[in-house]
Amino acid sequence: MTTQTRQERAERSSRPSRPEVRVVPPPAQLADDLVLDIRELSVQYGYGENAVQALKGVSLQLGRGEILGLAGESGCGKSTLAYAATRLLPPPGVITGGEVHFRAVDGQEHELLSLSDNELRAVRWSDLAIVFQGAMNSLNPVYRISRQILDAIQVHRPTWSSKQRQDRAKELMQLVGIPAERLRAFPHQLSGGMRQRVMIAMALALEPQILIMDEPTTALDVVMQRQIVEQIVQLRDRMGFSVIFITHDVSLLIEIADRIAIMYAGEIIEQGPAEELYRRPRHPYTRGLLKSFPPLKGPKTELTGIPGSPPDLANLPTGCKFHPRCPFAMEKCVTVEPVLQISPAKPEPGRTVACWLHEDEALLPQELAR
Ligand code: SF4
Repeated sequence: MTTQTRQERAERSSRPSRPEVRVVPPPAQLADDLVLDIRELSVQYGYGENAVQALKGVSLQLGRGEILGLAGESGCGKSTLAYAATRLLPPPGVITGGEVHFRAVDGQEHELLSLSDNELRAVRWSDLAIVFQGAMNSLNPVYRISRQILDAIQVHRPTWSSKQRQDRAKELMQLVGIPAERLRAFPHQLSGGMRQRVMIAMALALEPQILIMDEPTTALDVVMQRQIVEQIVQLRDRMGFSVIFITHDVSLLIEIADRIAIMYAGEIIEQGPAEELYRRPRHPYTRGLLKSFPPLKGPKTELTGIPGSPPDLANLPTGCKFHPRCPFAMEKCVTVEPVLQISPAKPEPGRTVACWLHEDEALLPQELAR
């Protein structure tokens, strides 16, 4: 296929669009064993006239044992989505709509947004764990690592004997690849990578079913980043938990994720199996993101980035939110918002995209049609 000019694409885009919007089912391999099912979740920051919409009707599924990567530039709603889904959203964030269904291993289902605080606490501590952004800096500098891990275990396992807690602390350290002797160290005696591993060990203390990691490797060098992501995959393989891994570096996700969802201006604009999304991005924004970070391995590639900056949530563009930065924008993009759907032009299992270029294969530029 030849590359079209902007004018050609504009002419084609003014053709009547397909009447029906395809309903997007969860990927077939996930449908039977979902651990988390986020439906139409909306969040705003602030109240009344000053409120800004930070998430707009986001639906996302997480399979049991799956590692789902959530990527996008800062301020696109990744952390808001994770914190809202677990009801950890700090004020002035307000959940304005949606449901979050959590299915435990015993098959029991809970709708997290309608649980009482006590019910939620029981689910959250035992089944959901979060490693917050910059967590490694939240270790208390004046206490040894052992005390901090033992305290965390004691809060959640008050009936355990001291010996049981100490055995568990050693086991957790070994699980994340740190010799148990280092339990006696103070945080400043450990490298950044080790401190981050300690935080992961603490998050795994209660054997959660879902581990949410918010930019867990951002402050680390690439070698350490790689070691941490490899370790998370190994732990998942061994313990079977599911992971939501949040990062602005989509190239890191190819090392760890089974599936990737890309966010922009509070919405998911593309999702699909990690390898396929990485090799053949279908959305212009995803393509730009991939060209913003060097891959952790493989040949050198030219980094071109994305022109401009993410939109102000208080003053979002009309139509496709990405249109002011999109090199392929057409007339229709400025006025009509695309929906996330299986691409009519390039239908692929488990993949969805929100972009008008996919209405017709002839509209797709070569770089998005490979
Ligand atoms: Fe670009 Fe958005 Fe138009 Fe797609 S729908 S071509 S991403 S402006």
